[in-house]
Amino acid sequence: MDRAESFTQRVAAELAPHTPLLACCRRSLVEGMALVTTTPGAIATTRPVAVRAAMQALHAEHIAAHVSRVGAARRVQYLLVGIEPAIIETKSTRVCCRRSRLRGAFLSAGRLVRPDGEPYLEIGSADEGGAAQLADDFANLGVSARTRRRRGRWVVTVRSGPAVGDALSSIGAQAGRLTFEAGRVIREVRSGVNRRLNAETANLRRTAAAGVLQLESIAVLEADIARWQALPPALREAATLRSRHPDDDLAHLAERAGCSRPAMAGRLHRLVAAAGESGDRVGSRR
Ligand SMILES: [Zn+2]
Repeated sequence: MDRAESFTQRVAAELAPHTPLLACCRRSLVEGMALVTTTPGAIATTRPVAVRAAMQALHAEHIAAHVSRVGAARRVQYLLVGIEPAIIETKSTRVCCRRSRLRGAFLSAGRLVRPDGEPYLEIGSADEGGAAQLADDFANLGVSARTRRRRGRWVVTVRSGPAVGDALSSIGAQAGRLTFEAGRVIREVRSGVNRRLNAETANLRRTAAAGVLQLESIAVLEADIARWQALPPALREAATLRSRHPDDDLAHLAERAGCSRPAMAGRLHRLVAAAGESGDRVGSRR
């Protein structure tokens, strides 16, 4: 079991025991589960906690239903059949029912990425209408969600950190939300560190590339005695120092020459420019 799966399962386990108090919401919970099932009037899920939650809600509504286990050992499905579709097709627009419908859908077919991963929540749906209903529910609760078709199935996806946090709260997963927010902090700190490391690496790479270009330029100038001798003494000195101390940074080179850093930078720059004026191409970065 990977960690993404375990976060999904933790949230499902948090949601499952709470049978909605209102009758309207109990039906919406089951409706949400039916929206993610392809067979009309049935609920199919691989999660025992989801099927138990459905049974409890139906029982409280005095709706008879029975469960069967189907499928192979590796992929057991729980199938709840014999529910009159009209009874659970509430299409209720009450806020309480929207939350409950999403909760049922998530319990049955929702998925979360591990809390410190790229923020992502999805609910696979049976068809386009089901996905649209769930996205509409999310939208009404202030959560931005999108529907899309993926390999012949419809999914509702929530993709930003704040939206996943809001989605968890709106389906009633408060503990899940806290876990998620803690993971987000870890993720943000980690990405900050990575950004800094990348910036430093880029700086080092630029410095090294500049050093190579300077050495190549100096070699070109030294190879042409006339041009070498025509260079101002300060440039020749800079060239000699650079050749002798290829790993020195600018500050050290400046110190050796007894000039300022900007002056040394200017001299090295002029050396590169002087070499570039000859026919030889220096530092072509192919
Ligand atoms: Zn309700």
